[in-house]
Amino acid sequence: MGDHDPETRATISQVRFSPLGQQFAEPDEIFNELRALVRSGDFTLGQVVAEFEKMFAAAIGAKHAIGVGSGTDALKIPLKALGIGPGDEVLTAANTFYASVGAIVEVGARPTFVDCDDSFCLDVDQLEAAITPKTKALMPIHLTGNVADMPRVMEIAKRHGLPVVEDGCQSLLGERDGHKVGSWGVATAFSMHPLKIINVWGDAGIVVTNDDKMDKKVRLLRNHGLKSRDEMEIFGYNSRLDSVQAVVGKWILQQAPDIVDKRAQAAEYYDQGLTGIPGIRIPPRQDATRNVYLLYMVFANDRDALLKHCLERGIEAKVHYPIPLYQQNALAPFGYKAGDFPATDRHSRDCVSFPVDQHLSRAEQDYVIETVRAFYRG
Ligand SMILES: *Cc1c(COP(=O)(O)O)cnc(C)c1O
Repeated sequence: MGDHDPETRATISQVRFSPLGQQFAEPDEIFNELRALVRSGDFTLGQVVAEFEKMFAAAIGAKHAIGVGSGTDALKIPLKALGIGPGDEVLTAANTFYASVGAIVEVGARPTFVDCDDSFCLDVDQLEAAITPKTKALMPIHLTGNVADMPRVMEIAKRHGLPVVEDGCQSLLGERDGHKVGSWGVATAFSMHPLKIINVWGDAGIVVTNDDKMDKKVRLLRNHGLKSRDEMEIFGYNSRLDSVQAVVGKWILQQAPDIVDKRAQAAEYYDQGLTGIPGIRIPPRQDATRNVYLLYMVFANDRDALLKHCLERGIEAKVHYPIPLYQQNALAPFGYKAGDFPATDRHSRDCVSFPVDQHLSRAEQDYVIETVRAFYRG
């Protein structure tokens, strides 16, 4: 693994997208912990959940972390805690995963959008003009593992008196100017879905906050609004972080710094290998930013033909996302139309994602680079 031996290279004929099989190849340690959990019967918001929350808060450098059922809930519950609902607008990035907008709609608010730029995050130059009197919160998305320009987002938010909920689901341990994703907003959502930077054995999410009031409210909302076993303070949800997943989370969270280092190294290797291939454009790499590369995305001429060429040669390349979210059928009631967000449209047409994870070998990356080079050589 990881060598440049031409013989190894010659044997590669497949590059998978997801490293899940490798990630949990030796699960004995986790099973031992699970055996102890099962014997204890401590299944709902018990000790292991509290331990995981503490570890997670420390990893981000935040005051509080509250485990919930999914990354989507980790966005929805803070919005609810802010009192956002029908008649309100939440302003977010036009290119994102369905769930960011799903969370806004679930609390009854209207999603409004700012176009992206080639960082794949929202274009801050367009942010202020998109704020309306109905805007009640900003939700920047740290898409692909990159980090939105939060110093400027916060300055605008402050000027308009708007709370910021960060969507950090794709950027665990991402940093900008020495601050981690999760440092700026009143709350930040992370996901531990199997396709994220760290993952558990199903769904799980976590909210991070430095705000004591937000912490209290999210804790109430995730557990039926219960203040104690017998006292229900408000209406809430059943969205507790599962104890079984907290066991897995504790095991994988320790590896997170190493995982993001390896992802960043793999991305740098691609950058070097793909630079100079006519037809490929690497997005600008930002100074003072630690991109954790949940996704490695580049711009490609004749993208669909390149994608087909790669798939036929065993490379599981993907597109994030082929249909811009604002053009999905589900959003039809909001009245957006094709062309409203041109950079997002361009990304959906021109971008391709290659596997980039801690288990990918340099030989596999060489195979990807050579396959792309061969495509443009014709
Ligand atoms: C995955 C993801 C979510 C939702 O996370 P789930 O745990 O799948 O609910 C939200 N936002 C973004 C940007 C994501 O990538």
